[in-house]
Amino acid sequence: MEEITFKVAPESKVKKKPSFLKPWLSLKYLFKKPVTIKIPYESIEPAEGYRGFHTLDWNKCVGCNFCGQICPARAIEMTWIEVDGKMEKRPHPKIDYGRCTFCQFCVEVCPPGALGFVESYMLTTEWNEEELQLFDWVPIHPDKFKEIQETYRDWRFPVEKIKFDKETKEVTYYLRNGEEFKFKILGYGIRPPKPPAKPTVKAEEKAQAKPEEKTQTKKPELDAESEKAD
Ligand code: SF4
Ligand code: SF4
Repeated sequence: MEEITFKVAPESKVKKKPSFLKPWLSLKYLFKKPVTIKIPYESIEPAEGYRGFHTLDWNKCVGCNFCGQICPARAIEMTWIEVDGKMEKRPHPKIDYGRCTFCQFCVEVCPPGALGFVESYMLTTEWNEEELQLFDWVPIHPDKFKEIQETYRDWRFPVEKIKFDKETKEVTYYLRNGEEFKFKILGYGIRPPKPPAKPTVKAEEKAQAKPEEKTQTKKPELDAESEKAD
């Protein structure tokens, strides 16, 4: 095998032009307008078709989990939801923006076209616990998202706050236009959550029998006390 030799120019041959002026040239940037923007106080118009936040038409979503399967970042979790006391017939994708890379593979693969995206891209928080819930959400209808964007024209996330009650599992979305949207999380996964087990007849009998047993065991003590009193 032929040996390859590399020639490296010696240090003495590298021309160095010392300049006292060059370091001072950077001072001109002090008087130029910065190219960065002050998020969240400033925003810029995104390019057409910019891959921003997701939207979801809950009526169209068939709960197939194709979106969850293709997601390279494992950011999608299928979620069973109850709205106005009624369980949704299919699970819907919940997206974790802590993981999502905005590749939009999930949107491309969605067979009924239920999952979509808008150009809004700004999600900033002050890192308190309530605001962090914003990073994990079941997207809302595209029309609602667009309506909010038309009102504010600032490309920000349409939800101001998400409240999650750990005990009741109730989620409240406080939309930026003052509307509230409530639903309950019943479970996760592609299979429907199991309803809470009804007490069996035997268990019921046992439960009824227990208080009697207790009274029976207490009886001799009571008898002994009454004898003492006599
Ligand atoms: S959003 Fe689309 S791909 Fe995902 S579960 Fe619903 S229908 Fe299937
Ligand atoms: S945009 Fe990409 S990373 Fe984000 S949820 Fe969809 S598939 Fe996953």
